[in-house]
Amino acid sequence: MRGFGRGNYRQIDDYAFGSGGMVLAAPQLKEALDSVKTESGKKPYVVYPSPQGALISQEIIETLARQEHVAIICGHYEGIDERFVERYVDCEISIGDCVLTGGEIPAMLIVDAMSRLVPGAVGKIKAVIEDSFYRGMLDNPNYTRPAVWEGAGVPEVLTGGNAHEISRWRRREAIRRTLTRRPDLVSRASVREYLQGVNVAVIAENESVNLSGLCDICRAYDAGRPYIIAERKELREAMKREYPGAKIIGSMKKITGINGEDTLTVKVAESPSVNSLHSLEVKRKCLEHDGNVLFVFAQNDRMLEDVDGLTGYIFGESSDIPAVARIAVTLDRLIGKR
Ligand code: SAM
Repeated sequence: MRGFGRGNYRQIDDYAFGSGGMVLAAPQLKEALDSVKTESGKKPYVVYPSPQGALISQEIIETLARQEHVAIICGHYEGIDERFVERYVDCEISIGDCVLTGGEIPAMLIVDAMSRLVPGAVGKIKAVIEDSFYRGMLDNPNYTRPAVWEGAGVPEVLTGGNAHEISRWRRREAIRRTLTRRPDLVSRASVREYLQGVNVAVIAENESVNLSGLCDICRAYDAGRPYIIAERKELREAMKREYPGAKIIGSMKKITGINGEDTLTVKVAESPSVNSLHSLEVKRKCLEHDGNVLFVFAQNDRMLEDVDGLTGYIFGESSDIPAVARIAVTLDRLIGKR
């Protein structure tokens, strides 16, 4: 900043109007920013670390890591002239609810978090993905040698060599930690990989189920091939003719494989009713449940009444959204990537 200062003292700040503190001045800041722009030939995405900014998050860091050029303006004293913030700052970021003397340490923190997302910066990308927050969840605890330290061992599963059991344990621990320490993260977490099998069933009373759309949606959300439950034989036969590959069955009982004791059945109603759960609560229950999840939809909420399971809703009131779009929104909200 001094290079853009005024006068013998290379002045870059001045007294705040109406109070005594010092404020970094807008003209000097603008010249500094312009010089950075000229040097790189690219318009920078301008970040101002400030206690008044949005709380830093992995999502913000991901956004920054995708920009071609990021310029971070470090404030000092009382901060920087608000007119500069309004005109040239794209994003104000706070590193937490405390006040530091300057923006340099927040800037280093931002650069460090961004650099982990640059391909090649961290040896194994898998390690980055499994870290806390990448998918919006906390990481599982980690241990290393010695296997016994000060009388404390490590969880047996980790030394047993069963890769499947180890990854199950890690998933469970990550879920337990997130739900107990940071339940606030769940709404924006990407949880599909923390759940086991996910399936969708639709109870149909007529042929207006958009089967091919439904199959595409289930595939996109890694939710297996959908089940269509049609009580009437003629309806089943008509649907099978229309879509020979579909799993069209006569009752919920015919759902095989994932409908065992370890399956959590969630009925997704079109509109909220007594005892139904908000989608966020459903998401939490799915995470708490150590097994498969079956989401059941119906062309009509009345048809869900005879199904055992908990009831969730996605929209706060009845909506005219077509069934297949409602299923897509539901899967996206509950198990989509955030
Ligand atoms: N007067 C400002 C206020 O109360 O909001 C505080 C200014 S602070 C003493 C000086 C500079 O430190 C800020 O302009 C900012 O760049 C940086 N800073 C201080 N706390 C910060 C935080 N929690 N997050 C990000 N930057 C911070």
